[in-house]
Amino acid sequence: MTIVEARKPDPKKFIKGATGDWEVVIGMEVHAQVTSQAKLFSGASTEFGNDPNANVSLVDAAMPGMLPVINEECVAQAIRTGLGLKAQINLKSVFDRKNYFYPDLPQGYQISQFKQPIVGEGIIILDMPDERVEVGVERLHLEQDAGKSLHDQHPTMSFVDLNRSGVALMEIVSKPDLRSADEAKAYLTKLRIILRYLGTCDGNMDQGSMRADVNVSVRRPGEGFGTRCEIKNVNSIRFVGQAIEYEARRQIAILEDGGSIDQETRLYDAVKGETRSMRSKEEAHDYRYFPDPDLLPLEFTQAYVDELAQHLPELPDDKKARFVADYGLTPYDADVLVAEKVSADFFESVAKGRDAKMAANWVINELFGRLNKEGLTIETSPVNAGQLGGIIDLIKEGTISGKIAKDLFEIIWTEGGEPAAVVEARGMKQVTDLGAIEAVVDQIIAANPDKVAQAKEKPTLLGWFVGQVMKESRGKANPQAVNDLLKAKIGIE
Ligand code: ADP
Ligand code: MG
Repeated sequence: MTIVEARKPDPKKFIKGATGDWEVVIGMEVHAQVTSQAKLFSGASTEFGNDPNANVSLVDAAMPGMLPVINEECVAQAIRTGLGLKAQINLKSVFDRKNYFYPDLPQGYQISQFKQPIVGEGIIILDMPDERVEVGVERLHLEQDAGKSLHDQHPTMSFVDLNRSGVALMEIVSKPDLRSADEAKAYLTKLRIILRYLGTCDGNMDQGSMRADVNVSVRRPGEGFGTRCEIKNVNSIRFVGQAIEYEARRQIAILEDGGSIDQETRLYDAVKGETRSMRSKEEAHDYRYFPDPDLLPLEFTQAYVDELAQHLPELPDDKKARFVADYGLTPYDADVLVAEKVSADFFESVAKGRDAKMAANWVINELFGRLNKEGLTIETSPVNAGQLGGIIDLIKEGTISGKIAKDLFEIIWTEGGEPAAVVEARGMKQVTDLGAIEAVVDQIIAANPDKVAQAKEKPTLLGWFVGQVMKESRGKANPQAVNDLLKAKIGIE
């Protein structure tokens, strides 16, 4: 069978080996914790950070005779996510038992979806710096999370925490469409943004609510897929990039040495910056999947799906397109603003009724720049949208210059206040009174006759004069007026 691949080999992404070029092929399996107050089949809380075993119902502890009851909200969240990924929603899906033994799995099986998942094929679009990449989503299925074994609490004993046991996860499986570590990182970033917009997963990788299994293989450009290794449970986007770089190099070295790749599961050690084998394909589990007899097939109507679709929020791709079309922003600025819904909303309230490009500039360069520096976020920003808008209004009206506006931003940042009132109280208004500016201009000209003579020959010296006048007026003179007056008086065209 020949596989028709959507993507053509791109030499820019090839990795140089000792014996020639290689192409890396990556597919991702992302486990995303469903945002829901209760677990997938029980009413126990999903709250993070509680004492071990505080969030455990009899169902989660698999007490004999307990029966799972599907949480409708988790189903709705999976459908919303499918819609956000422009995916096929399956009106009928089936829950299966995936059987294995582990102390943190009291049921002895995980309830998952195997042959008939709730969501089928979809798509995620990546806006890479010089191309648009469409990554296929193979499927999304619902499953339970397992508990956690605690090995570091006691010298000779291990404990089990079942707080996560039964928490709903969406496993989102991509097609092997990614061709570089950068693309893989962009994929995760984009998926995370979409999930956060939808409100279906908080995307919090350090709390484990989003984890990625990264499948990596290499091949000679133009050849069929190579044997892959799966790097399990990578918990940061940066580590995903590092793990891929390392793993691709490792596989290339083996192949160039005449060896072959064993299909295996590996772990990424972030401290050493390397992947290492966890188990080989030969040791792979036979999970003996079969439909869970305690659960009916999951069925809902198209009307139910349509209802959910109607209430979907505007998604990042649409928002970005709108920011470019309606506000005239560059795709780059639009990307920065839509990366978080709160940032996009903040920008829109600043831009409302104002010069949008100026608003974007102030939000991105001044505000975000400052927030990043101080480790703050939009939610904890000392300057709100109304205040930033007020600063922009003062510049637009000509009340303050761009330079003074930066000082004003500093004052509002540290002391708060209403921009117009602060400008009034501190006498920060720009001097547009031509008479006052002219007096300063005359004074500077009179004090520097030699420079005046030079400037007539070399008009670039005008900048020096502008600087002197601005200094003398402590930044408050209207720069345009200063420029015009100086040109006229010195006699520069
Ligand atoms: P499994 O269930 O055994 O992990 P799947 O066929 O579901 O296998 O694939 C899992 C992931 O591996 C998918 O994200 C897929 O895109 C990716 N994948 C499949 N083949 C390759 C390959 N040759 N190289 C890299 N990734 C691959
Ligand atoms: Mg897998």
